[in-house]
Amino acid sequence: MFGKILDSIGFVSSFDPEISAMMDRELKRQQDGLELIASENLASPAVIAAMGSILTNKYAEGLPGKRYYGGCEFVDEIESLCIQRAKDLFGAEFANVQPHSGAQANMAVQLALLQPGDTMMGMSLANGGHLSHGSPANISGKYYNVVSYDINPETGRLDYDQIRDMAKKCQPKLIIAGASAYPRAIDFSIFADIAHEVGAVLMVDMAHIAGLVAGGAHQSPIPYADIVTTTTHKTLRGPRGGLIMGKEEYAKKINSAVFPGTQGGPLEHVIAAKAICLKEANTDAFKTYAHNVVANAKVMAQTLLEEGFDLVTGGTDNHLMLADLRPMHITGKELQNRLDCNHITLNKNAIPNDPEKPSVTSGVRIGTPAVTTRGLGQEEMKIIAKCIAMTARDFEGTSEQVKATVKELCEKFPLYK
Ligand SMILES: *Cc1c(COP(=O)(O)O)cnc(C)c1O
Repeated sequence: MFGKILDSIGFVSSFDPEISAMMDRELKRQQDGLELIASENLASPAVIAAMGSILTNKYAEGLPGKRYYGGCEFVDEIESLCIQRAKDLFGAEFANVQPHSGAQANMAVQLALLQPGDTMMGMSLANGGHLSHGSPANISGKYYNVVSYDINPETGRLDYDQIRDMAKKCQPKLIIAGASAYPRAIDFSIFADIAHEVGAVLMVDMAHIAGLVAGGAHQSPIPYADIVTTTTHKTLRGPRGGLIMGKEEYAKKINSAVFPGTQGGPLEHVIAAKAICLKEANTDAFKTYAHNVVANAKVMAQTLLEEGFDLVTGGTDNHLMLADLRPMHITGKELQNRLDCNHITLNKNAIPNDPEKPSVTSGVRIGTPAVTTRGLGQEEMKIIAKCIAMTARDFEGTSEQVKATVKELCEKFPLYK
């Protein structure tokens, strides 16, 4: 997949062999393992090259044309093009491409719209929301009055009627839709109706599904939400970073909440890489990729069901699924550890009403974005699902066989070669 990356590790080794040896071990880990962490992906050589470039040398506080430093004429061009590409790809009225990460993007939106103590609604972390949607451990949960909604424990799905009732009761200023571990399509038009009924601003955090949205494999939140935040490194397959888009009326407030509100100088090397990723995402090849991610997830889900796993909601509409491991008599933690030994990476994840502690869990989250980038298709998804089942049922008895299968797949679908 993709072709070669620049030999940055070899370059580093001439000065710092300790770090380059560690980087090399990480490269081998990525090459020799199957990546099923739903929030991860593999960036293209051009994206990686832009991040490792001289653009990191430049300070550019402010926005293109309105900087606090001299010498910004070329990074202005880069950032302006990145903004234009984000607006074109998603059909947004404004974009700020400076957030260093998804969590920073969310923090800036909250700072722009809320006063400390104001009420906002978000999906609870335990039910698949994100820390930055109001978890008590995060600044969002410490500064604002958070009312969290859960999924319906019977169906595992969002219960829009219940969310509407909660919104009517608590009258939030901000409603956040979006999740980190939700296997079904989210209906942004219903969220918009609810927000309008109670006079709240709707922010959609599409971090996980941005690539599916770009490729037409999930409803776009842009027509419905006042503000949309995302990461650029998950299904969108760009550099590690954040992005905020939305309606023009919020542009000024949000721009100043990013800088000087919550950040200093923007990372122009990462912004160049974001621009490249947005160009890549605006191609037919990427549309095909996005649809393949979903098709692969469906086959993976079907095979896991046939192998005796339960799935939260019984399947998936997007790039991920949540396997409920109780019928297999193994915890999320144990399966994650066993799969790590077999060079298959995923993460333990709580299921609705999980009887186990968050550090143990009864489930795992499984995603197809990275393996799909690598070129694996539906036949390979069946093979991987069977490897996961063998590892859950009889780790010791099947480990050699599973490792050999993983090796064969990794050699057949090489990374950066
Ligand atoms: C991953 C994620 C984020 C945070 O992204 P970081 O870049 O790790 O800060 C925010 N929101 C959601 C829904 C996510 O899944």
